Amino acid sequence: MTDANGIGMTSQRTRARMVERLREEGIKDPMVLAAMNEIPRHLFVQEGLQSRAYEDTPLPIGEGQTISSPYTVARSCELACQGRVLDKVLEIGGGCGYQAAVLSRLAKKVISLERIAKLVGTARNNLDRLRIRNVLVKVADGSRGYPREAPYDAIIVAAAMPFIPPELTAQLKPGGRLVVPVGLGEDQRLTLVEKREEGLVEQALETVKFVPLVSGVA
Ligand code: SAH
Repeated sequence: MTDANGIGMTSQRTRARMVERLREEGIKDPMVLAAMNEIPRHLFVQEGLQSRAYEDTPLPIGEGQTISSPYTVARSCELACQGRVLDKVLEIGGGCGYQAAVLSRLAKKVISLERIAKLVGTARNNLDRLRIRNVLVKVADGSRGYPREAPYDAIIVAAAMPFIPPELTAQLKPGGRLVVPVGLGEDQRLTLVEKREEGLVEQALETVKFVPLVSGVA
């Protein structure tokens, strides 16, 4: 991928270094690493920030929101996918569409919900530009999921929830996985819920820092 200011020419190398770092930080799934290597993160941030796009940091995307750090995206995808290609994934909190673009390589169909209409426009443009056709971006409050397209192989939430609403786990297929930051303020844990035959199995993983989930659309 090249673009007008030439950053595309160096971005493949920079991105390969980012993927190397992700590997060192413990991301193992080859499909996730390949997707992170393929999707040009710099095209998802504002021009002035493109030179920082491959640092392991969140960056502003407007409307007071941020694009999640590469590690956060890779980690959530790895937890959701378990090394297989999924049929259908729901992402709650799509922002500028970066994680949805990564997921487009890991699932046959991706539904991405975002409550801020302006960001939905940005995400759609970003995905169109990369000719990604298997992601449906919707303006919607995803607090209770999206029953219309359920059930899902995985649900990934990109904004912190104070608790896990039962409506979300209800929308998982048997064997499905929910990856969600749970908690308030600084006290958030990335949480994995698996829907097993014997019931829901919940694991609180590392401490994380996501923007809070907000109700309603804007
Ligand atoms: N997945 C994004 C991260 C975006 S940050 C990435 O690839 O970088 C989280 C996003 O969640 C913000 O854009 C915010 O507007 C959105 N959000 C917050 N509450 C929401 C809700 N109830 N429904 C849908 N989106 C929500």
